[in-house]
Parts: sequence; C-alpha cells; structure tokens
Amino acid sequence: METRSAVAAGASIRLSRVSKIFPSPKGPVEALANVELTIAPGEFVSILGPSGCGKSTLLIAIAGLEPPTSGTISIAGRIVGAPRRETAIVFQDATLLPWKSALQNVLYPSEIGRQPRSAHEPKARALLQRVGLAGFEDRRPKQLSGGMRQRVALCRALVQDPDVLLMDEPFSALDAITRDEMAELMLDLWGEGGGRTAVFVTHSIHEAALLSDRVVVMRRRPCEVIADITVPFARPRRTTIVDDPAFVALCAKLRGLIEVSMGRRSNSAA
Ligand code: ADP
Ligand code: MG
Repeated sequence: METRSAVAAGASIRLSRVSKIFPSPKGPVEALANVELTIAPGEFVSILGPSGCGKSTLLIAIAGLEPPTSGTISIAGRIVGAPRRETAIVFQDATLLPWKSALQNVLYPSEIGRQPRSAHEPKARALLQRVGLAGFEDRRPKQLSGGMRQRVALCRALVQDPDVLLMDEPFSALDAITRDEMAELMLDLWGEGGGRTAVFVTHSIHEAALLSDRVVVMRRRPCEVIADITVPFARPRRTTIVDDPAFVALCAKLRGLIEVSMGRRSNSAA
C-alpha cells in the first residue's frame, strides 16, 4: 500500500531538564518539572498520568508549539524551536475545518504547505479508505460521527509521512466501543507505518498498555516523571491480549503508579 512504502523512518526525541512555568493570577503554575525523557526512533511511548499532570504541556512543547521555560527538546538531534513539518499532532477534538469535506481536510496540510494537490490526493484517498472511510470523502465533518471525524484527523496527520506522530488523548471523547476499534486501528496503522516515532498522551491505563513499547507515568505537583515502564508484549498485538494474565498484571502495576501519582499511595507501595 502506498502509505507503507512512502513513510520516513522515525526520529529520536530527547528532552533534557524540561520545565514549564505558566504565570497565573494566583502565582506561577509549574506544569513540567525537570522532565528527562529519551525516545528512540520508531518507539511508541505513552505518557500516562492524571488530569493536570502536564501531559498536554509536554506534547505541545515537543510539537514546538509552545517552548519550555527551561531545558531543551531535540528531535533527530536538532533543537526544536518551532513546529517542524515532519511532526504531526492529533488532538482529543478532531479540529477539522467544518466547511471542508473529509478529503479536503486531509489535504489541508498540503494546501497550506502550497504543495500540489496531485502529489497528495491519491495518498489521502488511500488513507481514508484504509481507515474505513471510502465513500465518505465528500462528507462535511458535521455529517460524520465522532469516531469518523477522529479517523479523518488521523489521516490528516499521516498524509505528510511524519517521522514523529504526537497524539493527545485522541480517543478519549469517543464511546467505549469506538475507542476499542480506534485502538485496534491504531495498532494496525502503527505496524504498517514503517517505524515512525509516536508519543501518545492518555489517562487510560488500558490504552497505554495495549499500544505502547514504553509507558512513562507522570504525577502532579510537581509535574514530573515517576516511572518509565517497558511493555514486553510482542507485536503485532491484538486487543485479545487484554485477557492475558501478564497484561492484567501490567495494568495493575500501572494502576498502582497512578495511585502514587495522585498522592493516594507512597512510592514504595507501587
Ligand atoms: P494534562 O494534559 O495532564 O491534563 P496540562 O498540561 O493541560 O495537564 O496542564 C498542566 C498544568 O498546567 C495544570 O495545572 C494546568 O492548569 C496548567 N496549565 C496548562 N496550560 C496553562 C496555561 N496556558 N496557562 C496557565 N496554566 C496552564
Ligand atoms: Mg491534557
């Protein structure tokens, strides 16, 4: 399939002593405290933690959309000072343009990059077909379900063959069944992707364990990394893995760490 062969290999990501402080009327809010993180090319890493622990701030900083207050972020060995074309991001809300069709939304990055439509349209159509949206190319976002809109957003992210794919709780606004379907689709797309690097923000233990090579657990106040857990399951994975006792045990371990991250348990209890 075209999307398989054209993909660039993944890029490495390195965060060194990354801190972010937001000013607020009640005083400064420390949203990231000395985050150290290295992600290898082609790794799928989830950032797991409770609401308000700095996950979105971290992702937006990696995307180059809002710089950290201190510390450095580099991708493929270069300091990130601005958004890079090879980094794609998917948010919780599909953020589609309501007046454009599904296909036009997928082609939008090419349009603003002033690239010829002919170069990307076959790929955009192939991607929409791949995610089960053949026949929906001309529909407006309002005419699509939440899950379909999120599939369009995923296609829009993939059409430029990113070497880094950032996702901020991309499935969390969806119902449980659609969410599982999306996780399965994500696993398949990942397998076909030729090794792009992914950072997936979630507060779902199950999603993190299912999708990732590593799960990085963050806590609030201070917003820092408290654990970095390797997920040992071979790929390709199927969602049936959730019944495997090793998967259940991993989820229990992550749940313990989340309790710690929310201050409900001491670290030794995890
Ligand atoms: P998460 O995505 O894990 O829920 P965020 O990264 O959105 O967490 O937020 C981390 C902390 O930083 C929270 O306390 C939040 O209120 C604060 N914060 C995030 N963005 C801003 C902002 N633009 N201005 C002020 N505070 C912010
Ligand atoms: Mg968030």
